[in-house]
Amino acid sequence: MKTFNVPIIYRSPLITAIKNSRKKQDRMKKDFTPTVLDFGPLRILLARHFGFCYGVENAIEIAFKTVEENPGKRIFLLSEMIHNPHVNNDLLAKGVQFIMDTAGRQLVPWENLTPDDIVIIPAFGTTLEIEAKLSSLGIAPLQYNTTCPFVERVWNKAEQIGQQSYTVIVHGKPGHEETRATFSHSRSNTPTVVVKDMAEAQLLATFITGASQAAEFYERFKGQYSEGFDVVKDLQRVGVVNQTTMLATETQGIADYIKNVIMDRYALTDENVAERFADTRDTLCYATNDNQSAVTGLLQEQADLAIVVGGYNSSNTSHLVELCEEKLPTYFIAADDQMISKDKIRHYDFHHKQELNSDVFLPEKDVVTVMMTSGASCPDALVEAVIRRLLSFYGLEQQIEQVIENYK
Ligand code: SF4
Repeated sequence: MKTFNVPIIYRSPLITAIKNSRKKQDRMKKDFTPTVLDFGPLRILLARHFGFCYGVENAIEIAFKTVEENPGKRIFLLSEMIHNPHVNNDLLAKGVQFIMDTAGRQLVPWENLTPDDIVIIPAFGTTLEIEAKLSSLGIAPLQYNTTCPFVERVWNKAEQIGQQSYTVIVHGKPGHEETRATFSHSRSNTPTVVVKDMAEAQLLATFITGASQAAEFYERFKGQYSEGFDVVKDLQRVGVVNQTTMLATETQGIADYIKNVIMDRYALTDENVAERFADTRDTLCYATNDNQSAVTGLLQEQADLAIVVGGYNSSNTSHLVELCEEKLPTYFIAADDQMISKDKIRHYDFHHKQELNSDVFLPEKDVVTVMMTSGASCPDALVEAVIRRLLSFYGLEQQIEQVIENYK
């Protein structure tokens, strides 16, 4: 895979050494067992895959290069480039401005932009409406485009099935930048509706079967269907695509569920189900699959707790947290300084969107085992900082240099 020029501050000598060594031993990425870092009283089990993905490195390279090559120019990002506060703050510190927040609220009025300004499209991509808006302002919308190719692949899949007259069901978070962009691209080709989870897929199924009154659809899915959506006609032939960072098991469950509903409704068999259900497999990206599989591998082991590092608004990170939570106490943190002491940690409850302060953190045991992973937008340097901070609670920081040597 292509390598990118990412600022050194985001790299970690420790994590780079470990990743390189694991890659050498397992080029085909078949081994999902964790890396064990044994420091005596503290054992760290590090997921096989975590951290910056292709799309994030690509976006960071383009954004920093654009800043470097355009001194004196005003540079804007449509919204957060990726869902990591450290990277976004670094760009803000370099004078980059965000036009919108992650929810799509305007921070810089469009009329403030001029044709001389540079506007960078973030890794999530953007809507056709925003592209048109930029063009109307005299700004070439795709000149500084960091849209991840794996997001574009979803748009292409949606277009492909749309051209075959299937309605597109997007499994994604309706307010997420990527899903808004996918919805926009898809609806330009075919009727499109967004479902955020299995509960919404089940609700949608009641309109497919006719169990719910068609008129109710427009209220229940308000803001999530394309203009002119005809609930009777447009739910007879469908295909499912996903936001690239959803939980793989949920995505599969939703596609299977909708497929079965369609088969029952129209008395179809496996042989002829394609008449009404497009088999898209899933459109999750490789990083989502690798990182979630690595957590599944991690969870085969025994540990006292898990730490997941990443931005609080990062979709892929929250799914890693969700997986870990099923098995053991899990702390979702954005940075090392949230681990106040051996007993105290400030962490994020993404279910209720609030930070919590816990007085119970590392257990009093002879050997404490901690599982660790991070999201696709989290710099490895932050993971190393978390490891160093954990070690500091045991007076073991100096051991890290030896581990780096061992993996070289
Ligand atoms: S998580 Fe996947 S789709 Fe998103 S930027 Fe990374 S590689 Fe691209």
